[in-house]
Amino acid sequence: MHTDSLYLDYNATAPVRPEVLRLVMEVMGTVGNASSVHAPGRLARKRVEDARGHVAALVGAAADNVIFTSGGTEADNLALRGFGARRLVVSAIEHGAVLAPALLHAADTAVVAVDGDGLVDLAALERALAEEGRPATVSIMLANNETGAIEPVREIVALARRYGALVHTDAVQAAGKIALDIDELGVDFLSLSAHKLGGPQGVGALILREDREVLAQVVGGGQERGRRSGTENVAGIAGFGEAARLARAGLARYGALAQLRDDIERRTGEIAPGRKVYAAGVPRLPNTSCLGMPGVKSETQVMMFDLAGIAISAGSACSSGKVSASHVLDAMGVPDDEGLTAIRVSLGWDSTAGDVDRFVDTWADIYRRCGSDAVDAA
Ligand code: PLP
Repeated sequence: MHTDSLYLDYNATAPVRPEVLRLVMEVMGTVGNASSVHAPGRLARKRVEDARGHVAALVGAAADNVIFTSGGTEADNLALRGFGARRLVVSAIEHGAVLAPALLHAADTAVVAVDGDGLVDLAALERALAEEGRPATVSIMLANNETGAIEPVREIVALARRYGALVHTDAVQAAGKIALDIDELGVDFLSLSAHKLGGPQGVGALILREDREVLAQVVGGGQERGRRSGTENVAGIAGFGEAARLARAGLARYGALAQLRDDIERRTGEIAPGRKVYAAGVPRLPNTSCLGMPGVKSETQVMMFDLAGIAISAGSACSSGKVSASHVLDAMGVPDDEGLTAIRVSLGWDSTAGDVDRFVDTWADIYRRCGSDAVDAA
């Protein structure tokens, strides 16, 4: 067992940035409800509003249009339910935070197929939009959490406009990894989550391009201008703001991670010519690689990497003890036995060439010990 651990699972959650940790601890040590009118309350309010400005700036939005939530999941739920009873059109590779609320009303939801690289089939999207019925909300993620594939959101918006649909994008994985501007994208609202950016877990935001009426899903004291009640998570929100500020400042350097990612893909391909890289043919996040190791089940790989002190995640979903191929790879038409060998490696702002060497050496070791052309050999 290694004592020095290597964390390559930034898409699951990123380490909290030291500046964020300092600020969160400072704010947690200070009393104040952001709704109180006295001085401690006003300080708490200032923390929240400063953070709102930083989060808005990360996506080029107006600060007033940021609604803080308990995370990406709540932001996605609010996007799907907070704008009236609309038909929903989602892609097959959405995160559960979009798919599950959409499928609660399955009869009123269209799930649009993706191609072999995981990009939304625009012809299928248009067919779904053209169906008679109530106006739709389209929800298609900006970047996929498992493969990193970046969806053609501007084209999706152009199409949706022709049918009078609203467009939401789950930008939880894209934010801080690629530059993004809500006006340029043209979406009506997008979701963010602090913990993917180096902020705390349990805080996120739904951000609107233009002010519009929101049907609040959490009602009570009327915080967030009545759009999301509950005493503000001042420390979490302050940490989110700081993470957003740092992520924005680091965007120019973040793209360089693609070199490390490409290095992993090239070198694993040299070790095992049959290794797969999913969504390799389309624009992807610079930090994400979804890799199939011939003959070795993803759960075995995750365990063996873990024993070697390396944290990565399986590209497959495990529920009630049964491991099944991920719904993302399944939607991309990857056969089950192949999909069951996929892992996700996701780098972060402090990943190094040395980390890549260690990952590739371990990958090679696992492949030599367990790899073959048959999944069952694992
Ligand atoms: N959407 C995507 C694409 C994600 O990857 C995640 C987190 O894994 C979420 C939504 C949920 O965000 P949170 O963990 O903040 O609820």
